[in-house]
Amino acid sequence: LPHQPPAPGISSVIRKKLMGYVGFANLPNQVHRKSVRKGFQFTAMVVGESGLGKSTLVNTLFDTPLYPPKEPLPPHAERPSTVAIESISADIEENGVRLRLTVVDTPGFGDFVNNEESWKPIVESIESRFDSYLEQENRVNRSKIVDNRVHACLYFLQPTGHALKPIDIEFMRRLHTKVNLIPIIAKADTLTDEEVTDFKARILADIAYHNIHIFQAPTYENEDEEAITEVEEITSKIPFAVVGSTNIVHTPDGREVRGRSYPWGVIEVDNEDHCDFVKLRQMLIRTYMEELREYTNDVLYENWRTEKLLSMGVAQDSSVFKEINPAQRMQEERVLHEAKLAKMEAEMKMVFQQKVQEKEAKLKQSEEELYARHREMKEALEKQRIDLDEKKRKLESGRPLTPETGKGASRKARGFLR
Ligand code: GDP
Repeated sequence: LPHQPPAPGISSVIRKKLMGYVGFANLPNQVHRKSVRKGFQFTAMVVGESGLGKSTLVNTLFDTPLYPPKEPLPPHAERPSTVAIESISADIEENGVRLRLTVVDTPGFGDFVNNEESWKPIVESIESRFDSYLEQENRVNRSKIVDNRVHACLYFLQPTGHALKPIDIEFMRRLHTKVNLIPIIAKADTLTDEEVTDFKARILADIAYHNIHIFQAPTYENEDEEAITEVEEITSKIPFAVVGSTNIVHTPDGREVRGRSYPWGVIEVDNEDHCDFVKLRQMLIRTYMEELREYTNDVLYENWRTEKLLSMGVAQDSSVFKEINPAQRMQEERVLHEAKLAKMEAEMKMVFQQKVQEKEAKLKQSEEELYARHREMKEALEKQRIDLDEKKRKLESGRPLTPETGKGASRKARGFLR
C-alpha cells in the first residue's frame, strides 16, 4: 500500500521530492480566489474646491458614471456654510473581481470666505471611520468587519501655476498622518507643459519644506528591474497633472478617445504624452490599491490606535489628581501608570491572540484543502493502477473478468481496494 500522509498537526518533517504535479503550488491562487470571492473594499476621498473636476475625474478613473452631473446653484440660493461629508458607494465587477468602491466627497471645502477650519470635519470623518473599525475589531465575532476607512485621499490643487496655498498646506499638514495623501494638479490642460513642470517642482519643494508625507509607491528588497522602473516612473509624475473627461472625442487622425476637444486640438485623457492620468490610475487602482489598503491598516490606523489608547489613559489620570500631598500623589501616579501599562499590555495580548487565531484558522483551511486534493489524486492513481492490473490479468489469462465473480472480486475481498 502507498505511504499514508501523516495526520495534520504531526510534526515529523521528511523532505521528499515530488514525483509529479500535486497542485499546492496553486495555493497562492487559492488564497487569491478566496479574496476575490469575498470581494474587496476600497474607499477614496476627494478633496478640493468645487469646480476643480473631482467628480469628473472619479467617473473617468472608474469608467462609471458614479457621479451624476451637478446642477449649478441658482444665483440667489443660500449656500451651505460648512464642509459636508458625502459618500457614494458602488459595487463594481471586472473579470470576476468584485470591488465595493466608496467615494467620499467633501463639498464646500475651500469654498467659503473663511476657510480656516475646512480641514476639521474631514479629520473628524477619517477618525470616526477609524473608531468604527476599532469597535468592530474589539467585537467577539470579527468575521464580518466592514472596512470604511479612507484608503486614499486625492487632494486637488488649483492649476494656478504658482505655489501651494495656505489652505493646501494646512490641510495636508493636518491629514498626512491619518490618510494616504495623493496630490493632484486639477485641470492640467489649462497649463502649458513648462508651467506644469515648474508648478510640480514648486509644489514638491513646499511639501518637503513643511515635512508633509505624501504616499509613495513602495519598493522592496530584491525587486526586479521592471518593478523598480515602474515605481520610478510613477514617482516621477507626482503630483499628477491630470485631465478628466468621460466624453469620447475624435482626434484629427480619426481615432475615438476619451478627452476634451479644443479649437486648437484634442487633449487625450489616456495619452501619457498629454497628462498623468494613466500614471495616477496605475498608482491608485492597477498596481498599488492593495498597498494603499495595507499602509492604511498597518501604519496609519495602527498609529492612530496607539495614540488613542495612550490619550485615554492620560485622560483617566488627570481626573484623579486632586491630591496635595506630593508623596501620596506620586504613589498614586505610579499605581495609575502601572494600571495603564497593564491595560495596554492586556489589549496588545488580546489583539495578538486574535491575530494568531486568525492565521491559524487560515492555515488550517489551506491545509485541509491540500489534504483533500492529495487524497483525490491518490484515489485516482489507485484506481488507475487497479484498472491496469485488471487489464494485465485479463491479457494474461486470455479471458474477460466479471466484476463480482472473477479474480478481480477476490482481490477486492483481500482488501486491495479501499
Ligand atoms: P467638482 O465640483 O470638483 O466635482 O467638478 P466637476 O467634475 O463637476 O467639474 C466642474 C467643471 O469642470 C465641469 O464643467 C467639467 O466639465 C470641467 N472639468 C472637469 N475636469 C476637467 C479637466 O480636466 N479640464 C478642464 N478644462 N475642465 C474640466
